[in-house]
This record gives sequence, structure tokens and C-alpha cells, in this order.
Amino acid sequence: MATPIGHLGDLSRRAEEVLKRVQILAAEDTRRTRVLLDHIEHRVPELVSLHEHNEAQMTKKLIERLLAGVDVAVVSDAGTPLINDPGYVFVRAAHAAGINLVPIPGPCAITTVLSVCPLPCHPFSFIGFLPAKATARRQLLENRMAEPDALVFLEAPHRILETLSDISLLTSRQVMIGRELTKKFETLLVGEPRALIDRLGEQPKGEFTVVIEAAAASTVTRDAQSVLRVLLQELPPSKAAKMAAQICEVKKSEMYTLALEISGAKS
Ligand code: SAM
Repeated sequence: MATPIGHLGDLSRRAEEVLKRVQILAAEDTRRTRVLLDHIEHRVPELVSLHEHNEAQMTKKLIERLLAGVDVAVVSDAGTPLINDPGYVFVRAAHAAGINLVPIPGPCAITTVLSVCPLPCHPFSFIGFLPAKATARRQLLENRMAEPDALVFLEAPHRILETLSDISLLTSRQVMIGRELTKKFETLLVGEPRALIDRLGEQPKGEFTVVIEAAAASTVTRDAQSVLRVLLQELPPSKAAKMAAQICEVKKSEMYTLALEISGAKS
């Protein structure tokens, strides 16, 4: 079942009822879940941990109890289980054992940021966390940006600036950042990746969920970007943008914006 990603008031009434009814609550981190239980002034009869390192072993025990007729709820630290969180091993085993699975929907960082995203984001692909290593991250971004879908991913505070810089070298698409969603320092930022780097400052803190707009909004295809990059090696941005726009039949203004971004990134 889903639990708040920040604001405890986002726990649904149904989720609260279920928390108060189940015999066993399996939580990713029992200390984090105790905060939520304190908020609703409740103690579950059995609070057990179910995290990525014990999921297989704990799943067996939980399935036995479920088959014996005991109700079990599963929560992750925050948001929706299985969405980059534990729960899949348990859900798969429960399904295989013929146990009735009941989704209790609610907060999720991905749907939260998308619910206020002013950029085109349909269809979108969710890619979870980007790889920590720079080469793998750049390769993945390049591959995924060859597709027209909007991209949604999760990012750590110490990597967000580097990732935005990588994105700026690959595309002129706009980006939305949802930082600390539903929390005191919630910030929504929308713009070109380079501009967002400036707005985030030197050592950004907090939790980040990022959306890169769908390609359909831009007429600058990947091929057009490649042409522009070659021309920029020989020509100033305005001339390179004009020629690339003519060759690739895309909007000159978009090419010029991209040309400025690319030359800015290089200098
Ligand atoms: N299952 C969770 C969900 O449904 O939101 C996602 C779990 S994932 C392990 C945690 C990551 O989600 C964080 O590192 C951050 O990238 C993103 N995230 C979680 N809470 C957030 C928030 N309040 N604001 C922005 N991003 C958040």
C-alpha cells in the first residue's frame, strides 16, 4: 500500500483503515514506518521488515501466514511499493500462491511531479534511478532520448547537476524538476537544463524527481542536432543554426537556442 512521500496528511483514509486492521505490517524500514504509525496513533500487532536484502526469506514466512488466513500489508519507506522500492518478490510469490492482492493506491513521486508538469509528457517512460557512473548514465540518456517519449527518472542530490549537464549536451528539450515534493521546501523548476543548473545553486539538497519533456514538442530531431554539432565546429552559432535549420527543415529559432546551449556548454 502507498504511504506519504513527505506530507503525512497524504495518507489516505483507506490506507489508515488498513494499517489499523492488519495483523502484520511488513515495512522496508520499521523505524521510518513507526513515524507514520505514531502519526495515526496506532501500534500494529506485528511490525516486520521486508527490504531488498531479506525479501526472499521474509516472503516465505509471510506467505505461510497469509495461507493460514492472516492479513498482511506491505509498505515501503515512502510512496508506492515496487516503484523503485521493495515488494516485487513478495507480490510475485503471493500471486503464485493464489493469494488475493489488494492495491491501496496513493502517493508516488512520479505521479506527483507529473500531476503538475506543464511540459508535454504523454506518453512517458519511467527509468528509475540513472546509473551512478558517468559513461553509463550518458549512454542511457542518449539511447532513451532517441525515443520521442517524455522521460521520468529519480536522481540523487549529489548527482543532479552533473545529470542536467549531461542532458544539456544531448537535447534542447525542457526539463521539470520536482524537489522535496509535498514537503516544506517543495520546489518545482521548469526550463532548459543549463538554466536549471544555475537555479539549483552549487550544492543542491533534497529528493529529486525529474521529467524531460516528450520530443514531439520540439522540431529538432536527433539527426538535426548532429548536423548542428558538425556545423558548429566551423561556424558561429547564428550561421550554424541558420544552415542546420535549412538543411533539416526545422525551426530556425529552436536551432538557434540549441546552438547557443551547445556552444555555451563547450566554452
Ligand atoms: N516508491 C517511491 C515512490 O513511489 O515515490 C520511490 C522510491 S525511490 C527509492 C526514492 C526516490 O524517489 C528518491 O531518491 C527521489 O528521487 C524520489 N522521491 C521520493 N520522494 C520524493 C519527494 N518528496 N520529492 C521528490 N522526489 C522524491
